Amino acid sequence: MTFNYCPTCKGDLGPGPDGYTVCLDDSCNFVLYENPTPVVAAVIEYKDGNVLLAHNTKWPPKIFALVTGFLEKHEDPEAAVLREVKEEVGLDAEIRGFLGHWTFKRMNQLIIAYHVYADGEVVLEDPEIDEVKIIPFEKVRTWPTGTGEALRKFLRSKGYDPEVVPFR
Ligand SMILES: [Zn+2]
Repeated sequence: MTFNYCPTCKGDLGPGPDGYTVCLDDSCNFVLYENPTPVVAAVIEYKDGNVLLAHNTKWPPKIFALVTGFLEKHEDPEAAVLREVKEEVGLDAEIRGFLGHWTFKRMNQLIIAYHVYADGEVVLEDPEIDEVKIIPFEKVRTWPTGTGEALRKFLRSKGYDPEVVPFR
């Protein structure tokens, strides 16, 4: 959330200690903490020995990545990641494990990544997702941000050491 003025006293905001934005009025102690937003991410193991990656219509044509999404109010992260997989690619998945969490500084997000498994039919009804790619473990390449790290950790647990290719 961004503010033009202090939401407490309507004073001016400016730089404060430790990189935080603060209220510049001495009688006000408002600090804009900008706590990271949690985002769930799914490494989808699909049928035997594949990973399913999705393409979002907002991304360049050849970029395929994990299914991700925000948690709903009071939602458990495991429920959120299964809901996102169902909404974005139409699969009834099951949690196979927690991969870890990674900070995504550019978006100020905390990525909470799970390994999920699915073997049903892909159904693309979410207008944001227009294509998926089903890639055998040995051909998957990853990327150097949090979701890419999660995918790499998963593949390493399966005995593969994927190439890391920066997004262009
Ligand atoms: Zn203030």
